[in-house]
Parts: sequence; C-alpha cells; structure tokens
Amino acid sequence: MKGTSAPGNATLPARFWAKVDASGDCWEWSGAKSSAGYGVIGLGGKNGALGHAHRVGWELLVGPIPEGREIDHLCFNRACVNPDHLEPVAPAVNKRRQRWGAARQLAARTHCPQGHPYAGDNLVLRKRGGRTCRACRNTSTRAAKLKRQQAA
Ligand SMILES: [Zn+2]
Ligand SMILES: [Zn+2]
Repeated sequence: MKGTSAPGNATLPARFWAKVDASGDCWEWSGAKSSAGYGVIGLGGKNGALGHAHRVGWELLVGPIPEGREIDHLCFNRACVNPDHLEPVAPAVNKRRQRWGAARQLAARTHCPQGHPYAGDNLVLRKRGGRTCRACRNTSTRAAKLKRQQAA
C-alpha cells in the first residue's frame, strides 16, 4: 500500500495546519524552514522524508501538482503557504520570475543599508546592474587607507 493511505500521511493535514499562521495576507509557515527559506514538513512514513510546506498546502487545499511543475510564490515570500499566492509553473518560468523578483526588490531600495540615499551624486551605478553608495564606498576606502597607514 502506497500513497495517501501510508501511515503518517493521515496526520499530515493536522500537522500542516498546526504550523500555519493564516492571520495575515501571507500565510506564514511557523515550522521548520530550509536553508533557502521555504517551509518544510515531515511527510510521514518510515524514511522521514521532508517536503516543502507550500507544496503540501497546495495538495491539501487545491489538489495534485501537475507532473514537472514547481509551485511559484507570486508574493515572493518563500515561507508563505497561502494557495492564493501560489501558482504551479514550469521550472523555467519560476527561475525567470525569481530573477525579476530580485531585480524588483533591489530597484525598490531608495537608500543604502546605512541610510544614505541612492540618488544624485551619491549613487554609483555598477557595470552589471548593481548600485553602490558613494558615501559608504568613500568611508570604506578611507578606513582601508587609514589601516595601511597605521600598519606602516
Ligand atoms: Zn504570500
Ligand atoms: Zn551609504
């Protein structure tokens, strides 16, 4: 006997819902997460296999994931398991969207981590599309120079 009747899978819905915080727009996974930030859940059974929480949630709430499809996060929140924010897509589409998401997040930043504006003279555009804060770059160059002087 395999599949849904396997021991362990009977408890899967309960174990899944115990870890879901559905109070917000994104349903945050409060259980264990993979190093990439995706929710993970034990699928049950003897081998102790782990599955992605958002995939388990999709199968519980929507149905089987079509063969070869990845579940894409439209909200770019990898810990989210809200099926409204998910869509099964071909892997190539998922990769493309991840790049868009990263680019969009970067473009949305208006200040460097130190709070200097990414604007005017302070904005240094790098060749490969990145942006650098001139104030921070000057500070780190000065600090490096100072260190060299002190060491001499
Ligand atoms: Zn979400
Ligand atoms: Zn800065």
